[in-house]
Amino acid sequence: MSGTPNIYPELQLFIDGEWISKGDRKSELVLNPATGEVLGELPHATTADLDRALASSQKGFKVWSGMLPEKRSEILRKAADLLKQRGEQVTQVASMESGKVIAQSRIELHMATEVLEWYAEEGRRTYGRVLTQRQAGSRMLVLRQPIGPVAAFTPWNFPQGNPARKLGAALGAGCSCILKAAEDTPASAILMVKALQEAGVPDGVVNLVYGVPAEVCPYILRSGVVRALTFTGSVPIGKDLMKICAERMIRTTMELGGHAPVLVFDDVNLEHVLDLSVTAKYRNGGQVCVSPTRYYVHESLYAKFVEGFTARVNKMKIGNQLDEANNMGPMIHARRREAVDALIQDAIKHGATLNTGGEAVAGPGFFYKPTVLSNIPDSARIMNEEPFGPVACINSFKDFDEVIAKANRLPFGLAAFAFTDSGKRLKLLGEQLEAGMIGLNSFAISVPESPFGGIKESGHGSEEGTEGFDACMITKFISEV
Ligand code: NAD
Repeated sequence: MSGTPNIYPELQLFIDGEWISKGDRKSELVLNPATGEVLGELPHATTADLDRALASSQKGFKVWSGMLPEKRSEILRKAADLLKQRGEQVTQVASMESGKVIAQSRIELHMATEVLEWYAEEGRRTYGRVLTQRQAGSRMLVLRQPIGPVAAFTPWNFPQGNPARKLGAALGAGCSCILKAAEDTPASAILMVKALQEAGVPDGVVNLVYGVPAEVCPYILRSGVVRALTFTGSVPIGKDLMKICAERMIRTTMELGGHAPVLVFDDVNLEHVLDLSVTAKYRNGGQVCVSPTRYYVHESLYAKFVEGFTARVNKMKIGNQLDEANNMGPMIHARRREAVDALIQDAIKHGATLNTGGEAVAGPGFFYKPTVLSNIPDSARIMNEEPFGPVACINSFKDFDEVIAKANRLPFGLAAFAFTDSGKRLKLLGEQLEAGMIGLNSFAISVPESPFGGIKESGHGSEEGTEGFDACMITKFISEV
């Protein structure tokens, strides 16, 4: 681990208020994807660890749900403050393990702390309601209560943001939470849980475990302890986990993959749309669930759009994520890089034009050149499978109905974007695009007060917004005469 700044924390499990080191547990190495350097050794939870975490989560639920919302709110806000104070370390660690450029990790920390603060405030307003009487002297109440221990499984690509959304919703609603964050990026979740602990979250309210996901996740879900699962990850894993949840009717929030279309009409300011498009596409090397992936550009602008897009991509700086000068870092691991390359080569075989990129960067780390493909047939795999990498697919269209059909033709429905100056079109786009989040003349589709989630095979339920609490609360009707 030579050369690693010592800001990277020891990798530990957090069970029943205790930080647990590797000891004689199995483990895995966590790598810096830019260098292949070992950052740390992550212990895997044993079955006994998981049983302890589950029991602790039940105990923690009783304590936390019984605490006044005002007090819970104070603790969550304090945790957000601690993370901000430690911002330099927290963002460097997130970048070191995820490969995300440091400027984007800073934005993500802002987003994560805002989410915790928002849930802290909104947790004081999870009101029920009183219905009008049906009979003199009677009372009819709709009561909302925390659902119980919540299981949360998160991916690596937003190592701060995803744990913050899940912990914020569960804790804000009064639930305890067993978090299994991504094994690729464990330290970011560790730093967040440390902040929660130091802010005053009682033992058992948050447990953090790692291990072999295909073993740990089903074990937690089949325990009979958890009442809800909030999952962010790929569609196939989401479907598998839902089947397990069905065994015990565990409530699910599924934040899954997407394949976001971007519709560019003939009345836009082309240079402005190009600037926004290239920045949005290569954020986190395209490894973002709402990443714009399929650009559909009106035929009158198509050639200029492809040219302008490619020219901008050729000016991008690719390199170490901690170097402020770079726009894009490495991909998360060799597997992801190989998967993206396979999709790109398949598209070329199917007749797509490679405008730039299309190969790995030689040398250490998992770098891949930012890539632009155009004229891609729908039969190519990349037009049907989530690319989740630094590749833009650009095709042309002639008219409105045709492009709506193209945008909606996949089973995904996470995000969709469109650019036009026409008010009439904007109205129709909002109504007709099949996606849980729609950005019109903007790629910005996430703030703590707005619901974040997909439709179709991109999942169900929302995080953030008042909707974010729905997953973590039950509704009871009480009729009293
Ligand atoms: P992934 O599905 O491989 O992993 C997500 C989580 O599931 C991790 O905690 C992982 O350890 C766990 N997991 C992996 N295999 C498992 C198994 N067999 N059984 C149980 N759990 C398992 O996804 P990833 O590669 O980490 O992340 C990329 C995916 O996540 C993409 O599809 C992306 O679109 C999606 N994503 C969605 C959102 C959203 O909000 N909709 C946000 C970020 C990422």
